[in-house]
Amino acid sequence: MPLIIPIFLMNRGCPHRCIFCNERLTAGDHPERITESAFTETVRTHLDSAGRKSGPVQIAFYGGTFTGMEREEQSRLLELAAPFLRGGAVDGIRISTRPDGIDGENLDLLRTSGVTTVEVGAQSLHDGVLLRSRRGHSAADTIRAVALLREKGFETGIHLMAGLPGDSPNRFAETIDRVIALRPDMVRIHPTLVLRDTPLAKAFQEGIYLPLGLRGAVDLCKNALRALTAAGIPVIRLGLQTTRELEKPGAVIAGPFHPAFRSLVETALFLEMATALLSSAGRESGAPALPPADAGVGSPLYFTLSPADVSNFYGAKRENIKILQERFGLACIRISPDPALPRQTLILTVGEKHLRTDYSGQITRIRLQEDTRHGMDHSTQ
Ligand code: SF4
Repeated sequence: MPLIIPIFLMNRGCPHRCIFCNERLTAGDHPERITESAFTETVRTHLDSAGRKSGPVQIAFYGGTFTGMEREEQSRLLELAAPFLRGGAVDGIRISTRPDGIDGENLDLLRTSGVTTVEVGAQSLHDGVLLRSRRGHSAADTIRAVALLREKGFETGIHLMAGLPGDSPNRFAETIDRVIALRPDMVRIHPTLVLRDTPLAKAFQEGIYLPLGLRGAVDLCKNALRALTAAGIPVIRLGLQTTRELEKPGAVIAGPFHPAFRSLVETALFLEMATALLSSAGRESGAPALPPADAGVGSPLYFTLSPADVSNFYGAKRENIKILQERFGLACIRISPDPALPRQTLILTVGEKHLRTDYSGQITRIRLQEDTRHGMDHSTQ
């Protein structure tokens, strides 16, 4: 992912306010008009930030419907970004917009002004859900918009929401299947939250709308993450980015809000992967139970994974470890962090047998290099 410098539009260009939307909470408190001085200062601050890694940089116009604004205003904002593009400090521009706000003419303006990436707020690909969420567009609008964006050569993202009014696990799974068929370059998903000062808050208070619980939201997003990963589509965000405003008491009235939502989803997926590997190893050996993992290097049973995934493997308060120990009657779970292993991958070693899986859920039998095995850093839990 590039470094993204967000500039918030604060609902500008939106034909109406969607039932769940409160930009003051999700984007933070930003002025309505983006002045040249504020824009330049924001971009410079991000570019000069001490901890910045080298790599591509994009300026992103988020939090509204970019292509729904007057053409002059779109041009003015794109012009503000132009000096950074020309000077090479920024590699491209990214915008977010509604599917019904995309047509061939406005895409030509975007293309000639340095926009490389367009994120489409689809939210659902089920018309009944879109209607009840008062989105004002159809699933067909998203299908048409994504096809047009791909035809014009834009990197294309799709934004989805789980738990919208009228949605169900089956409908959400159908949405994911339809998104996969559209082959976007990336997807963002966040569960629907009931935010203060929205029509959804009123519906919740009247008992008309019931949000997902945290466990249900994690489950839906876990299934979506698995399916999208298996299809080779990166999920670049799970859960809303928190803001100071969102964390204030009373901002989120109800719904599955968690500041580390993605981590919860990945922890659930690692539990599923570890369970599948242990079950598969148990089935293959024909043994009623796996051998206890109680020795060091060369022990009969251990997991290998990227060091960056260790906390997701453990889960909060090491809950995954406890569940696996109980489920499979293991005295302890041994892990071996291996920096050479790609993230989202898990290898189970039982004796001389090595089984590998990843977020797609596919299990393969592999051979491990001798030098890799001896370089492992084991730790016991
Ligand atoms: S289109 Fe997006 S930014 Fe505009 S009101 Fe709807 S959710 Fe909010």
